[in-house]
Amino acid sequence: MEQKRTVLIVEDEKSIVDILRFNLEKEGYAVLTAYDGESGLEQAVNGGADLILLDVMLPKMNGFDVCRALREKGSSVPVIILTAREEEADKVLGLEIGADDYITKPFSMRELMARVKANIRRTVMQQSGSAEGAMSAGGGLTINPENYQVCKRDKPIDLTQREYELLTFLASHPGKVYSRTDLMEQVWNYGYVGDDVRTVDVTVRRLREKIEDDPASPTLILTRRGVGYYFSAES
Ligand code: CA
Repeated sequence: MEQKRTVLIVEDEKSIVDILRFNLEKEGYAVLTAYDGESGLEQAVNGGADLILLDVMLPKMNGFDVCRALREKGSSVPVIILTAREEEADKVLGLEIGADDYITKPFSMRELMARVKANIRRTVMQQSGSAEGAMSAGGGLTINPENYQVCKRDKPIDLTQREYELLTFLASHPGKVYSRTDLMEQVWNYGYVGDDVRTVDVTVRRLREKIEDDPASPTLILTRRGVGYYFSAES
């Protein structure tokens, strides 16, 4: 069982908090809540959250100030701003605030969950990277999450977005076996869960053709027969 991730919701509208909490818990996240900017900042600084959903218009301290203050205190926890207006997007993603992503109200829950998942995954990848940002995945393979570049023995490999996401997901959990259904949920968008899981097999096959020395006898992305796929724990 993978470690449970925690999402802190900072939002003063109780109905929104309730629906967010319901959906996040259904997806397996632990949830913390704060109903004003000051207590949101305090909880964020105290740690324990893997991601923060932050409203802009809040009592006591607005979301922009909360985010800015959080970054000044050295926290790099991913922050998704919940904004009421599309025009605020530039401001939200502006460097001085330090937010990672934003979503405009009213938002689709499916979209929001996909963003939460993607932002948490990105930080997990970055944490497992080396000081230069590139992660050695073994077998001469390096993954640089900062520029999305994958190299095999220093030679760049051209991957599609999905191949890249599948590779980084598996490589950041070496040795852990994922079923095709798990991978559909974790790597493919939430909305594609109903698709034929053979999509996973096809993507794994293409990926192996690009990254393995001998795609017929893979040493990086391995098959656990009857269960699923995993990334080699040897490096
Ligand atoms: Ca509000």
